[in-house]
Amino acid sequence: MDQWGARWARENGHIKQVTAPGHSRARCCYVDFLNTGPSVAGTLRRQLSRWNNIQRLSNVTVTDIVTHDGVAVGAVAINIVNSEIVTFDAGAVILAAGGLTKLFRRNSASANMAGEAYALALWAGADLVDMEFVQFLPIAHLAPRLVGMDPIMWDPFRYKLGGRLLNGRFEEFMHSYGGTDNGNYSTVRDQASYAVLKEVEAGRGSPHGGVYLDFRHVPEEQLRSAFGPVIDRLVANGIDLTQTPVEVGPTAHYHMGGVRVSVKMETRLEGLYAAGEAVGGANGANRLSGNAITEALVFGETAGRNAADHAMKVCRRWESRYAQQFVETAQAACSLRNPGGLPPIALQSELQDVMWECAGPFRTGDALEKALARIQQMKRELFSLSLSGQQHFDLDLQDWFELKAMLTTAEAVVAAALERRESRGAHRRLDFPETDSALSRNQTVEMKNERLLLEWTPVVS
Ligand SMILES: Cc1cc2nc3c(=O)[nH]c(=O)nc-3n(C[C@H](O)[C@H](O)[C@H](O)COP(=O)(O)OP(=O)(O)OC[C@H]3O[C@@H](n4cnc5c(N)ncnc54)[C@H](O)[C@@H]3O)c2cc1C
Repeated sequence: MDQWGARWARENGHIKQVTAPGHSRARCCYVDFLNTGPSVAGTLRRQLSRWNNIQRLSNVTVTDIVTHDGVAVGAVAINIVNSEIVTFDAGAVILAAGGLTKLFRRNSASANMAGEAYALALWAGADLVDMEFVQFLPIAHLAPRLVGMDPIMWDPFRYKLGGRLLNGRFEEFMHSYGGTDNGNYSTVRDQASYAVLKEVEAGRGSPHGGVYLDFRHVPEEQLRSAFGPVIDRLVANGIDLTQTPVEVGPTAHYHMGGVRVSVKMETRLEGLYAAGEAVGGANGANRLSGNAITEALVFGETAGRNAADHAMKVCRRWESRYAQQFVETAQAACSLRNPGGLPPIALQSELQDVMWECAGPFRTGDALEKALARIQQMKRELFSLSLSGQQHFDLDLQDWFELKAMLTTAEAVVAAALERRESRGAHRRLDFPETDSALSRNQTVEMKNERLLLEWTPVVS
């Protein structure tokens, strides 16, 4: 990445490394306060554009992986510009469609992290691992509206500057839950999430259903020097930390589980590879900050090399019948016009509420059972939904396919969370608060005859 021009921050001629939260040594690289993400993405895009033989397609949403004789041979997609169904003939396929945090009402994701990779993998015959492990962060930004900034940035600043967490009555509350805050942060993340959610439940939340994070006691010069250019971005968003506290609360941020792959990043389906947040297993039951992009870059390269090797060896011809069944489903979806039927976004929105309420930061068997029943019912409602049938940029159509995948992925998360009757890492069961050493195992999920099958497997170290 450095040779491609990522411009990492440097110190004494070396790439600078800092200690990120939870790490035992300085190993986190960055570009500057605001531009690490854009720099990484821009560098990859620039590098791609240097290769004329790499064809890029925008506005195409993949709806199925096509298989033949147990091998991945291509994909079916919808061109959302004109609702045209597109098929791809591929020597190898890499699933790199990101995580699933959009399944939850509160999330830090961009609008398209709906867990499609996991559903695509299951439908094609690959299996998933660790689906119950969703990472929730305790104090993501809720309000006022924040544009163009990272909603999970508050944690390090709070530690550095002594930001105070206050409930809706402007009282400190962490001590009521066994933690301390202000100046001595003994409250671990789960405890902090629990405390915030309990205050809200007791009617002592802030207006947007969280609590306040307050820096008003910190002198302005100290704020300026710690926040650097971030402070001006906040001001541009109408947030003056010397005058007003912000509202924060727990949010779904990252998924540790995902598609199960070999060291070659190949799924159990020949020709189907995976990379990035779509992959499960590398981060165990919880992830340390900074490890996701690193994982995507390092294992992404491995996936790319092995997929290319595989594609070079393939000597078969694509036949359109391989994709027939998926094309027919897509055609049926495109013509869904049910008078009085709900638009797909209505069900998506309900699913997000169900997942947040029943499979969010704190889970119980009863709530998970309730979620599972509703998700299975929603799956049956898919074909009674109604689409607008708009010719160009039919967002209903996009939402419908996204919802179809979201339901499969949500079912996998809930079923796995229900089976893991213990608390471990990011998976917190209020009815099983302890860690059970007998469950130091991975859980895999596969699909057989449209039903999910779960299995415990030994942890490979
Ligand atoms: C606010 C925020 C801050 C973060 N900060 C850090 C950090 O500081 N350090 C760190 O290591 N990690 C961080 N992470 C996590 C990290 O950014 C992600 O894990 C990582 O970017 C995932 O990369 P990816 O390529 O796997 O997926 P993504 O970057 O999510 O890309 C997936 C792509 O697939 C596309 N896609 C999805 N479904 C389909 C479909 N059906 N058909 C076609 N395309 C599809 C999407 O549009 C998207 O372009 C952060 C995450 C968030 C949300």
